[in-house]
Order: sequence, then structure tokens, then C-alpha cells
Amino acid sequence: MYPEKLTTHLEALALSSRAVAAMFRYDDREKATLDYELADPLGESRHAVAGRAVHQYPDRLLVHVTGRCAAHCRYCFRRSGVHRACGPLDERETGLIQDYLKGHDQIKEVLLSGGDPFTMGTDLWEYLLDGIRQARPDITVRIGTRMPVSDPVRFEDNRLIQLLADHGVVWIMTHINHSDELTAETKASLERLRKNGLSLANQTVLLKGVNDEVEVLARLFTTLVDLGVKPYYLFQGDLALGTAHFRVPLSRALAIVNELRRHVSGLAMPVFAVDIPGGGGKVPLCPPWLGAPGKKGWPLTHPDGHTGFYPEEKDGPVK
Ligand code: SF4
Repeated sequence: MYPEKLTTHLEALALSSRAVAAMFRYDDREKATLDYELADPLGESRHAVAGRAVHQYPDRLLVHVTGRCAAHCRYCFRRSGVHRACGPLDERETGLIQDYLKGHDQIKEVLLSGGDPFTMGTDLWEYLLDGIRQARPDITVRIGTRMPVSDPVRFEDNRLIQLLADHGVVWIMTHINHSDELTAETKASLERLRKNGLSLANQTVLLKGVNDEVEVLARLFTTLVDLGVKPYYLFQGDLALGTAHFRVPLSRALAIVNELRRHVSGLAMPVFAVDIPGGGGKVPLCPPWLGAPGKKGWPLTHPDGHTGFYPEEKDGPVK
């Protein structure tokens, strides 16, 4: 059972936004799991290194800096993941990451993920960022977070903002799915990050009954551009256990994305992509990486040659 968890900010927002309630409130449909759904839909555990890191792509290292999130998104692809139980990285684990980065020059970006990294306290951030910079002053740091949505006051911490600004090139990869999430507080948190020199890009998950309409996505992406946040990826739903009610059939998802292109600028248009189920990497959902659907589903080919299939699912009713 993946417990329900909302912040005070989200509790209030869920009262007025159906989309926010759908993303964060428990739903009985989560009890239904399908035989092709997976506990580790991205196959991250196959690439585990140095304790809490995942080295899947040669030039990037993903680090699960904590298993904790401020709130639990019901569709989370790590909802049953092993990292969910972990607290923040300790000294020994940070040392392992430093050693791994020092020993692998080909790594050009380190992706700090979780859980949500910004659930960590500011002292831990100082320790972690200092450690990464000591090991590799040249590396780009990316931080994946939903905190501007779930607990935007976290970014009222001047010391945290200054630390992020003072540690070289740092990208903040936000996770925002609907313009209802762009409250005055959330916008203020994004503005603080941007005004202090952080680069901002956003990842969105396509979710049935939340944002599976052209107008909803167009409003979100154009607003993000206005806020200085580049819409980076739009993800087709991963095959996480108990999340079928959130997934949009891929044929309909492709039709939505094709229509979306007529409504937003190139700057506002994210790359539509999916992770190959079970592992193999992110694949843009367009030819030549996406083939014609057959009996096994939609064939996917990663640019590095990994292949897999994504199922074509039925479009059930939205509650
Ligand atoms: S913030 Fe990210 S890791 Fe945490 S529950 Fe939401 S999607 Fe999952």
C-alpha cells in the first residue's frame, strides 16, 4: 500500500482543483494491478552502482539522494521502489558518490533525484553540493523536484537558494502537470529560483482525467514559458503497479500531441517520450524510435539500440 501524503498547501488546493485531487488523493482503482505492470518500470535497479546511484547512460549519473517526498503522487513510477524507504544520503554514501564521480570522467551530468531532493535540510544540501563540486568541479548538476508544487515555501529559504546559485551550473527540473498547480506561491518559488540564476526546465506526465486534453496542456506549457521554465519532456505513463487508470492509450496520446503542435510554439513544445518498460532508456515517441503497433504493442527502439514494447491500452472511463 502506497500511503496517501499531502502537504497543507496541497490539501487546500485539492479542495478547489479536481486535477490536483486526482493526482494526490488515494483511489480504490490503485488496488487493480495488471500482469504487465512492474514494481520497477524503468529497470533502474539493473544499473545500480555506488550504493544509491544508477549509471544507465554513459554521460549521466542518477543519484537517489533521499527516498522521501513532501507528498505522494499517486501515479509515481517509483511508488513501490526500493529507494522509497531511504532517508537522505549519509556521509559514507556521499563519499561513495564522490569516489564514483572521480573515477568516471565520462560522466558530464549528475541528476539528483529521489524521492524529492528538496525534502533534505539545507545543511545536507551544503554537504552534498560541496562534495559533488570537490569531486567534479566541471560537472552539470540537475535536480529533479516537485517541491515548487507540493511545498513552495521551501524556496523561501535564502540560504538554500544561495547554495544552489553558488555551486556552478545547476538546473532545476520541475515536475508540473497542470496549470492548477501554478498557484501564486508556486509561481513565486519559480521566480526566486530563476532570478537567482538557476536554469529551469519542466517534466510533465500525461495523465488521464488530469491533463489529457490539448487545451489543458497548451495552457500549462505556454504559462511555463512565460514563467521562464522550458517544457522539456512530456512523458507517456510508465507501467507502474496500480496506475492503469492514469494511463492514456498511446494512440490517443499521439493524437493529442500532434494536435498540440498546432497550438504552441517550438519553445513551449516538450519532447513526448516514454521509458522502455522494464529498462532500456527514454525513447522519443516518433519515428524512427517508435514503430507501427502490432500484436505485442508499440515497438520502441532507443538510439543506443535497446528495444522493447509499450502496450496499447483500452480507454476506460474517467471517474
Ligand atoms: S514527487 Fe516524484 S518521486 Fe515523489 S511521489 Fe511525486 S513523482 Fe514520485
